[in-house]
Amino acid sequence: MTDISNPTAIAREVLRRLATNRAAPTPDNYHRLYHEIAGTTADAGSDAAQNGEQNLSATQTAALTPAATPPWGSLIKELLKQLEARHSGLTPSKKKEALERVLSRFAADPAELHAKLQNLLKSWSDPTASAKQSDMPLVDDIAVAPATQSTQSASGVAASPVPAGVANDVPAQLQKLLVQLLESALIPQLDHAPALAAEARALAQQIRAIDNRWELTRLSVDLKQLSFKLKLHGEDGVKIQQGLLRLLNLLLKNISELLEDDQWLHGQIAVLQEIIANPLDLQVIAQAERGLKEVIFKQGVLKHSINEAKASVKDMVARFIDRVGDLSETTGEYHSKLEHYSQKIGQTEDIGELLQLITEVMRETRSVQTNALRSRDDLLLARKAVETAQEKIKQLEAELEQLSEKVQEDQLTGTLNRRGLEDAFEREAARADRQGSLLCLAILDIDDFKQINDTHGHQTGDDALKYLARMVDETIRPTDIVARFGGEEFVILLPETGMDEAVEVMTRLQRNLTKKFFLHNNERLLMTFSAGVAQRIPGETQDAVVARADKALYIAKQTGKNRVLAAE
Ligand code: GH3
Ligand code: MG
Ligand code: MG
Repeated sequence: MTDISNPTAIAREVLRRLATNRAAPTPDNYHRLYHEIAGTTADAGSDAAQNGEQNLSATQTAALTPAATPPWGSLIKELLKQLEARHSGLTPSKKKEALERVLSRFAADPAELHAKLQNLLKSWSDPTASAKQSDMPLVDDIAVAPATQSTQSASGVAASPVPAGVANDVPAQLQKLLVQLLESALIPQLDHAPALAAEARALAQQIRAIDNRWELTRLSVDLKQLSFKLKLHGEDGVKIQQGLLRLLNLLLKNISELLEDDQWLHGQIAVLQEIIANPLDLQVIAQAERGLKEVIFKQGVLKHSINEAKASVKDMVARFIDRVGDLSETTGEYHSKLEHYSQKIGQTEDIGELLQLITEVMRETRSVQTNALRSRDDLLLARKAVETAQEKIKQLEAELEQLSEKVQEDQLTGTLNRRGLEDAFEREAARADRQGSLLCLAILDIDDFKQINDTHGHQTGDDALKYLARMVDETIRPTDIVARFGGEEFVILLPETGMDEAVEVMTRLQRNLTKKFFLHNNERLLMTFSAGVAQRIPGETQDAVVARADKALYIAKQTGKNRVLAAE
């Protein structure tokens, strides 16, 4: 039996006894029974008030007189019956709980209490109320809400009147989360769908303003509609994205065909093509963007220098042509003068005049000669300048090409990235196959790197990665190649190196790391790594060699870390 020391329990017990005794629920009967159960005296009005009966004002008590009294007996009987009866989706304890809430809340107003209890009964027996729990207000809430209520949403749209018995207590957290979901997560993603964004915004406002579950239920229909539209929009978005990717791919293909001579752009185009070919990955896109931006800026500077050099070459060629023109003009004049002198020489019989003519011819010849000599010097100079300019252009273009290859670098550590490694492997493998030389590949993974991040922060983790890359660079030969393979994994390519020697290089790297500590805030952090080393079998692909080395690395991790193991 429930505790009947509290007023609610007493009131409920009063009702129960009134029903079982088939007594009329008159104020007198109610009073008598109340005090009997509470153990107080019937005439001690102040005691009754202290015990919770204070809610029974004179007028309210009057409401319990037979004339104004609703049919309590049948209601209570029905309540007791329905408490025991089976209702899908409702347990007896849930029903009891609801009943208790109604009783405690409306004990002060018997008329209202009656109405609420009837509502409660209705909600139990109405199959739609209990079967569609997700769509409908909770049963106990139906019973405890004020009789009627009309609400106005924040957006100014008049909401439908709240049915009798709907609760005010919308779960505040759910309401807040819904608004947050719409405003912070959804709307910022709808830049390209202003109509949908406006709809979501209006809905968020309405949700913010609601103060009862009925309205929440009403808005759930709008929410469903919005989510359906979003689904359609999302499908459109995917199609648009795929279409754009196809277009970009076409464009890139076209550009790379057009650019046969402009090797300097090929690196960048290859990066973009690779991104498009694989599933889109935000990190990869961001890294490519950073790399391309840097390269494009430097290329801009270089292109400027190249254009300047080209302009100066043009200038020199123009001068060269002028000079040739001058020269032929001078020689043309000389020839016509010579013709004129030879005619005169042929005609004259006077030796004096002849001498005079010869002296003049010699003067003309000398002046043509000096002119020709000067032109020759000028032309030689011009040719030299053109050659220098051409040399400079060639060098700048080589730099440009190299820069494009820079997209193959890892931004953080300055080692090659995966793409760079692929090219390097292809090159080295081809060389090894051609020359019949050995090629080893080592893969290393820093031990417990997550702990460095967790203990000292991500920035320190980044610094540690840069430090390791520097140490690798200091340890390996200039012909060896290092690439960042993943987060804290590096691959080292060792051309013309056999297994024993490669393992030795990796062990030397281990020793160097224990000798030269990585410092964080002057604190020495010991960093170790595990590694697997594989010697490439002639013709073997990069994936196959990496897989073998990776297997050895896995065993090194499993067997205690800080180890270098040779692959089978
Ligand atoms: P194990 O010895 O088994 O290799 O353990 P681990 O902690 O090194 O390996 P795990 O794979 O659990 O964690 C790798 C961590 O490396 C998790 C990830 O946050 C971190 N990491 C990956 N890339 C970067 C990066 O660029 N910078 C930083 N600071 N951390 C990174
Ligand atoms: Mg790892
Ligand atoms: Mg690790």
